[in-house]
Order: sequence, then structure tokens, then C-alpha cells
Amino acid sequence: MTVSRANAREVRRRASGCCEYCRQLETKRSIRFQIDHIIARRHGGDDSLDNLCLSCYECNSYKGPHIAALDPLTEEPTRLYNPRTQNWEAHFDLQLDMSIGGISPEGRATASVLRLNLPRRIIERHEAWLRGEYPCVKAAADALQ
Ligand SMILES: [Zn+2]
Repeated sequence: MTVSRANAREVRRRASGCCEYCRQLETKRSIRFQIDHIIARRHGGDDSLDNLCLSCYECNSYKGPHIAALDPLTEEPTRLYNPRTQNWEAHFDLQLDMSIGGISPEGRATASVLRLNLPRRIIERHEAWLRGEYPCVKAAADALQ
């Protein structure tokens, strides 16, 4: 099974071009964003819209088939952040230096697995912020909820 074109189109529309993990905006400079299976197929995830999100190339590459990890703070196993069922602001905190802090077990584990705070990724975020492209519009819309 592959994601249908209709579902892929809907995932892109729903996300407004925003990576649902790191909040980078897909631009002409980006490697094309990908449709991520939140629960990987190998773990029983399906191709429904409830299991799909838009992910930048880097977040999707680091996430791979992972669905859980250890919380780096407590070393307790936890599921990764689920953009369909969880609110970004309840799990992550964008710092003034453009790093993304995890503020829940899921947020910390996801920030670690997806390597959200690699120095070059922070620099990219800062540059996007200077252009007025970060965090992307979807983040602003979610913040109002
Ligand atoms: Zn991302």
C-alpha cells in the first residue's frame, strides 16, 4: 500500500507546508517535504489521514520507523510525539536561540530522535526566522487553539 495522491494532497493542504515536527516551512530552498507515517507501516500503521503528517526531509530521515524512544531526562520509554493527537505547544518549547526544548516525555524523546537541535538545524531555523518564515504559519494557527 502506498499513500494515495488524494491523501498526500490533503496532508500537504492540512499542514500548510509546515513540517509538523520542527515547524520549518517548505520553500523552494527545501528538499521536498515528505508524507510521514506517524506509526510506521512495519508497526501496523496504515495510510489513513489520521496516521499521516507532513515532515521535512531531515525530521523524516531521523524519525525513520521509530515510534518510541527513551525520554532522555528519565530514561523511561515513551511514544514519540503524534502530530494528529497531540498539541505541539504542549510538548515543545521554542527557545530564543531557536532550539526546540522538549517539555514532556514525548517532546524530549522526539527532539532527541529527530535531532531537532543539531547546530546546523538551529542555524537554519534562525535564518528562516530572519526571513520571517519560522516558525511556519501552521504553528501560529495552532498556538491560537
Ligand atoms: Zn522537520
